[in-house]
Amino acid sequence: MYKELNTSNRILMGPGPSDAHPRVLKAMSTPLIGHLDPEFVTIMDEVKSMVQETFITKNHLTFVVSAPGSAGMETCLVNLLEPGDEVIIGINGVFGGRMADIAERCGAKVHKVVVPWGTIISTNDIKKALDICPKPKLVALVHAETSTGALQPLKEISNLVHNAGALLMVDAVTSYCGVELKVDDWDIDAIYTGTQKNLSAPPGLSPVSFSDRAVKVLENRKTKVQSWFLDLSLVKNYWGGAKRAYHHTAPVSSVYALRESLRIVLEEGIEERWERHQKVHQVLKTKLENLGFEYLVEEQYRLPNLNSVFLPEGNDEALLRSILLNKYNIEVGGGLGDFAGKIWRIGIMGESCTLNHVNMLISALEDMKE
Ligand code: PLP
Repeated sequence: MYKELNTSNRILMGPGPSDAHPRVLKAMSTPLIGHLDPEFVTIMDEVKSMVQETFITKNHLTFVVSAPGSAGMETCLVNLLEPGDEVIIGINGVFGGRMADIAERCGAKVHKVVVPWGTIISTNDIKKALDICPKPKLVALVHAETSTGALQPLKEISNLVHNAGALLMVDAVTSYCGVELKVDDWDIDAIYTGTQKNLSAPPGLSPVSFSDRAVKVLENRKTKVQSWFLDLSLVKNYWGGAKRAYHHTAPVSSVYALRESLRIVLEEGIEERWERHQKVHQVLKTKLENLGFEYLVEEQYRLPNLNSVFLPEGNDEALLRSILLNKYNIEVGGGLGDFAGKIWRIGIMGESCTLNHVNMLISALEDMKE
């Protein structure tokens, strides 16, 4: 009755997922083993150690949440916050807004630092927020705002946050393995990411990491974490405990894929990978501008791997995007929120970050003009 699964051979140049390496797809088809099999425990240890290497951290509490990036976000917030806590959250796009929503659901008092979409939260914005809320428990920022293509500077703000005695929490879903990110150097206390962007693994897992400072906060909680599944005091015994205790059944095949994608990142070298994203971005930028596209974000705060651009005057963005998909098999993203119907979000992430991808997209756009 139902036909065998047979999807189109898309070229993924949207905001994620990105194209997966054949080695990653092959790893997914490895026969299943039990999730408490000693061989799988070794695989989990290897994944944990590669996540530490790629986050550039020695944080002991580093593991992978068995659910997508949003669950990583929720893991950080539900564990670090208790009712009545004060937090400062930067909002310059969709994902800052999502963090604020979750923090409110945790019963926290949320001070929102709202700036126009496409811009970043400045050090001064955080200083002003600290004047109003001098002792927050946590300051949360989105490193790479996928809804706009803005890259949030973190280093200077990190000092400010710690001087106020707060924790720094960072969303690195779109920055991890694509742009410079140094968890220990930048003193980030809680960080989460996803697998479907610059890692080029299938969506559905969320690597996370917590500093010792954050772990102390977890240990001193007065109330139970309201989520059973995301409660770190339970899940940490599964990923890191001396004796691996059953918590949930790990998504074995997805962990295989993640392991292979991390191996590929480390073979390339993390810094080399950041550089590749910059280089390919420069080529894409020149070609897009030659075709009349204009960038949304000011050059110094632009993400290389997520290019948010206004189309040349007089184009129907939704129509062009559907032709790109249906005739050329190329996926690019449309705008969200304030920018819905106005911009394209062109991803060059991980395996989708090659000159070939750029050339395929540009040739298709030129072809469509004729
Ligand atoms: N944060 C950012 C910056 C994202 O781009 C995304 C997804 O695109 C998420 C969080 C949520 O991740 P997921 O869709 O994997 O739940």
